[in-house]
Amino acid sequence: MSIERVVVGSVEIRSVTDGIMPAHPSFLFSGVPPEMYQAALGDEITAEGNLPIKRGSFLVRGSGRTILVDTGIGDKNPQLPGGDLLSNLERLGVRPDEIDVVVNTHLHFDHVGWNCVRRNGAFVPTFPNAEYWIARKEWDFWTDPAILSEEGPHLRSDVLPLKDCSQLRLVDGESAVTPELTLLPTPGHTPGHCSLSISSAGEQAIILGDVAHHPLHLIRFWIAAVDELPRISRRTKRALAERLIAEQALVAGGHFTPDSFGRLVLIDGRRTWQPIKG
Ligand SMILES: [Zn+2]
Repeated sequence: MSIERVVVGSVEIRSVTDGIMPAHPSFLFSGVPPEMYQAALGDEITAEGNLPIKRGSFLVRGSGRTILVDTGIGDKNPQLPGGDLLSNLERLGVRPDEIDVVVNTHLHFDHVGWNCVRRNGAFVPTFPNAEYWIARKEWDFWTDPAILSEEGPHLRSDVLPLKDCSQLRLVDGESAVTPELTLLPTPGHTPGHCSLSISSAGEQAIILGDVAHHPLHLIRFWIAAVDELPRISRRTKRALAERLIAEQALVAGGHFTPDSFGRLVLIDGRRTWQPIKG
């Protein structure tokens, strides 16, 4: 059985989803011949030919802070059935006003959807007491007028309303969110993409963001069709995979389905994904 909660030193990480969405393997593994990804994925592929992936967030508790990493797809786009992140948080006894920090690993639509809610005709932060941490490089890329005119409405509903808001915290480079939790630039999927590294009582973990949508990205270094900077994405995957193996860090993958947590290990010299089961 897949598990939803792990403890790293004195830090708790919970997987909380905003639902599951189908993704086509040719979209996740760009340019990879179908027979190659079919052989690697086996029965993970549904009868319709898709790979179901979680819209995964993580709730991290440590140093007296409650941190929400990514906010799913939200409920504003009629083309995409509304997510259930808020009700899943409520099920865990977590109210929006109890979140101290929201971290967006990047600003794609499936990671910012509950950043804001509509109140009295305006979009306001869903989490009224939270600082919203976003890499400045990521913010600058997606709020450029040329990108804004091209990209979907999620930027207008869930990103731009944070501009000039006292809750927005734009950060440069590696930045400590708490003494145990650090924002780590891992560019490629998007220019300012960040992962989170956790170090507590001698134990290590990494929350990947979309460095990998599936463990195969860390094994084969295949890239996704939605990677903005493919060559950099591949380099980042390779570097992070080496680090994960060297540190024996626990890995948390928001899109990994069904097991969000696991470790990347070397077996007979081959990178292998070992999910953590309950
Ligand atoms: Zn994503």
